Amino acid sequence: MNDTALDARKRRPLLDALTETEFDLLVIGGGITGAGVARDAALRGLSVALVEAEDFAAGTSNRSSKLIHGGLRYLAMGDVALVRETALERKAVHAMAPHLAEPCWMMVPARSRASLLKFMAGITVYEKLGAVEERDLHRTWNTAELAREEPVIDREAFPFACVYREYLTDDARLVLATLRAARAAGAVVASQLRAEAMLREGDRIHGIEAVCGLSGERIAIRARTLVNATGPWAEEVARLEQVDEESRLHLSKGVHIVLPAERLPLKHLVVMNTADKRSIFAIPHGDTVYLGTTDTSYHGDRRLWPEIDLEDVTYLLEPIARYCRVPPLGPEDVVAAWSGLRPLIAQPGKAAKEMSRKDEIWTGPGGMLTIAGGKLTGFRKMAEDVLDAVARETGRSLGAAPGPTPIPGGAFDGDLEALARRLPGVGNLPAGAPLRLARLYGTEAASVLELGAEPLVPGGQVMLGEVDWSVSMEAAHSLEDLIYRRTRAAWFSPQECAALLEPAARRMGALLGWSEAERARQIAAVRARIDDELSFRESAAVTSP
Ligand code: FAD
Repeated sequence: MNDTALDARKRRPLLDALTETEFDLLVIGGGITGAGVARDAALRGLSVALVEAEDFAAGTSNRSSKLIHGGLRYLAMGDVALVRETALERKAVHAMAPHLAEPCWMMVPARSRASLLKFMAGITVYEKLGAVEERDLHRTWNTAELAREEPVIDREAFPFACVYREYLTDDARLVLATLRAARAAGAVVASQLRAEAMLREGDRIHGIEAVCGLSGERIAIRARTLVNATGPWAEEVARLEQVDEESRLHLSKGVHIVLPAERLPLKHLVVMNTADKRSIFAIPHGDTVYLGTTDTSYHGDRRLWPEIDLEDVTYLLEPIARYCRVPPLGPEDVVAAWSGLRPLIAQPGKAAKEMSRKDEIWTGPGGMLTIAGGKLTGFRKMAEDVLDAVARETGRSLGAAPGPTPIPGGAFDGDLEALARRLPGVGNLPAGAPLRLARLYGTEAASVLELGAEPLVPGGQVMLGEVDWSVSMEAAHSLEDLIYRRTRAAWFSPQECAALLEPAARRMGALLGWSEAERARQIAAVRARIDDELSFRESAAVTSP
């Protein structure tokens, strides 16, 4: 593969590269939608630039349920085309990055034989739509099998279960790997660069003025075609082109909470129904298990970190007492949490949970294309749709869409355990660390270890080399970038996260030239962020007797 490095230390050459040329295509927004468009366009030979206002994947693409799935529940809503497309796309994402689309069994507990049969009818359609292979077809468990396979489930209430295949991803890392694939194909991609105004030539939009979030520098980037892929912010960016852009999006807030695995020791992904008859997932992840998601209409300002209320947390914990035989769980057991905004295409008269997850593309009066809606899972197909629209707008023939070619870290057969076993010095790594590294970095895990194979915290799982890798290959500019979206320590290594901050900031500061004061500021910012995400605990303390 060509150069895939996104080196945070090479900012000046990056900004210069953005201003020196007129690009064929400029993508605004570095979530999964923008990353997919940049990859597709660059692989088809277009000259491509992408700008992201914050960190890559700072928005919704880091707040998902982290499933590469067809969305079985949307079948019940009649969205057959969407379910077919995303169900088929599961295989494509797996082919591109098996470490970021790991096959897992999703379990649906059933109260009775009748409800088991009803579910099986739905899952059979789903499997047909997704062309699921024989070995991955659903299976059912009776009470004895359930006792063996998933003993935590309350078998008196749910004596049967059906399990079917879904895929687990790491959403932020999928974005990073896709952007690096775009980079390898020649795209110029920059985080910390906010589109603030449009450049016009007659009545056409011909580029943007962007402001650097690190230095405040203002630069002009010129391009023949613009794609606005800013998710929940799509209308704000569209209004840079046309002030009275109509409102098309309906935002819905989705919260996830993280518990220590020992408090809810599940072995499989489990679907549970909430009190208001929605489905939520319980997803084991290393030493943790996360629960999500809520789906509530959101009318607040479009902030990067929507607040997490006590109500969200109690809503997600409620089903556990009905489905699982574990000691009661309360807000005080939650060790991490995240919240994101879904940019849904508005459907008047429908509640957020009933709205379609399909995407939509529209063209502004100056020619800028905006794409919004959709799912993480469908990013490759969405990119194809955008490129079709680019071809129509420009009258240019673009050649065939790239297939599901491997993205960085993804060129292997999918056997993560074998990959983990082959890591250099595997015998010296703490338990669990090799598999964690294989999941996060795929075939690149060995290169990460070459940069530093000792844990940042004695006995911990996060390695020194990950800091160097994040800065030199994945454009990490801040400690938050590292802890939240590269190593995932903030959410999935809560035991070692607090102890990590000092040594990680020391290493990162050495690479990026931070002063003592800057290092302290970075640590304080991450601590404040973590406290803020868990602030619902304070309201729990106030309301409990
Ligand atoms: P975003 O990821 O939000 O990216 C937009 C980017 O644009 C942001 O990074 C933002 O900083 C940037 N930006 C904004 N303004 C500017 C500007 N002026 N200049 C430059 N950049 C700018 N899908 C699945 O397939 N599976 C799931 O399990 C799943 N679960 C979900 C759970 C929840 C709770 C939610 C909310 C969504 C879920 N989804 C899931 C849907 C999926 O996460 C989204 O469809 C997808 O992440 C949207 O990506 P995006 O790139 O369009 O938006």
